[in-house]
Amino acid sequence: MPQDQSIIITIDGPAGTGKSTIARLLAHRLGLDFLDTGAMYRAAAAICIDHQIDPDDVEKLCEVVADADLHFDWQTDPPAMLAWLKPIDSRIRDADVTALVSRIAAIGKLREHMVRKQRIIAAQHPRLVAEGRDQGSIVFPDADVKFYLDASPRIRAHRRAEQLRAEGAAVEDERILEEIIRRDTMDASRQDGPLICPDDAIVIDSSNLEIPEVIAAMETVVRERVQALRMG
Ligand code: C5P
Repeated sequence: MPQDQSIIITIDGPAGTGKSTIARLLAHRLGLDFLDTGAMYRAAAAICIDHQIDPDDVEKLCEVVADADLHFDWQTDPPAMLAWLKPIDSRIRDADVTALVSRIAAIGKLREHMVRKQRIIAAQHPRLVAEGRDQGSIVFPDADVKFYLDASPRIRAHRRAEQLRAEGAAVEDERILEEIIRRDTMDASRQDGPLICPDDAIVIDSSNLEIPEVIAAMETVVRERVQALRMG
């Protein structure tokens, strides 16, 4: 990949498609930075719970989240999510945060704040793979390459359950499936920045693909696009 060329790649899609892992590995492969926007909404949900803020008290929540000055430590891999300059990655994947995050992510004023931050990050890291729900549709509508990563809900639930079991959690596929469907429904039906597949996105269904196959497919598309951009 030419070092002198800025490039924004977006990967959107529903919960449990492996977006974070895939975005991070693709970024590695191409020598780009990796932006996990879900971590930002998760951080806001964790702050809401840990500071005992009523999720309906939008003004208070936005004020405290702004005060936390959420940003990433780009010296670590993957970049650590910081709130009040402290890493909070170990908190933001907890079950109570996962259960609340889609409700928090539906707050329009909070999304405006996050979108602003994400665009600032892209200005500072102009060679970026950004993953989330609204990256290709709202945050970076002019992205150079847009992907929409999908897989059947049952397969996504099974993969997520396996991952949690590997981390020592006792979980059932059915419960995870319910959680994923609940989250997808909320993410897709909200007014601001809903989960959609942008018209110009390349759809990859990973139901029957392993992660290296998905990354290889994406890498081919990106390299072709970069070459086309350079040829004018
Ligand atoms: O990707 P992850 O599961 O970490 O995202 C957590 C939640 O954050 C999603 O279910 C969604 O509600 C929210 N989110 C969002 N917009 C993004 C990224 C995540 O609304 N760009």
